[in-house]
Amino acid sequence: MKILRILMAGAVGLFLVSCAAPGGGAGSSVRRSEYGHHPGPKGFRTVILDAGHGGHDSGATSRWTGQMEKNAALDTVMRIRAELAGDFRVVLMRDSDYFIDLDERVGRASAYSDAILVSMHYNHGAPATRGTETFYWRMDSYSLAKRIQREIAAASGGGNNNRGLVRRRIRLTRNPWIPCVLVEGGYLSSPSESRLIADPAYRARLAKAVAKGIRDQAAYGDVGMGPLPPPINAPLSRPTDARE
Ligand SMILES: [Zn+2]
Repeated sequence: MKILRILMAGAVGLFLVSCAAPGGGAGSSVRRSEYGHHPGPKGFRTVILDAGHGGHDSGATSRWTGQMEKNAALDTVMRIRAELAGDFRVVLMRDSDYFIDLDERVGRASAYSDAILVSMHYNHGAPATRGTETFYWRMDSYSLAKRIQREIAAASGGGNNNRGLVRRRIRLTRNPWIPCVLVEGGYLSSPSESRLIADPAYRARLAKAVAKGIRDQAAYGDVGMGPLPPPINAPLSRPTDARE
């Protein structure tokens, strides 16, 4: 049933691609590979949006607002999809409240070519900790992460709210065979930021910012993003490696 939903989303998306694709005619520079040791993608047509957690896995829950990460992430992903609709073929990893194992998310993403993966999460930590950050691992995902982080930092107020880029080898940044990033849209454990995250207007701003980062990457590739990080031949990330 879940797979059917994705296939149907893909079929609808194919029509959209044929009438409006950024960089149309120029072709795509997405290279599907295990390590991602090459420049970032340009002209890609498929965006896979992954709402973190789901079902019995709620992710973080705010003690201030009661909001659960799985719901905030899904709401944000739906808004990103609406922002991108018409210009990209958008595939949702999940479109309602059910659980998908991380390795299965990786497998589904890796089945696509000409695609990028953006996983949406909200963070938790000490009450005083706040801000947005974006995780990446692969060289081909650096500029996408940087573009998204730049936009969401501005959308969330900038300054101390910008925790920047983090190069971390976790399953959703190391294991897919396509460019992939994981976005943390703020801390549900922060009293002030959790109230912000509970506000639909903030999630709308965040979604618009993520969508702009994706659009800019599709239009410009790595141009203007500075030197790429060095390649690292690291093994696949396992569940025991780090928090995700
Ligand atoms: Zn999470």
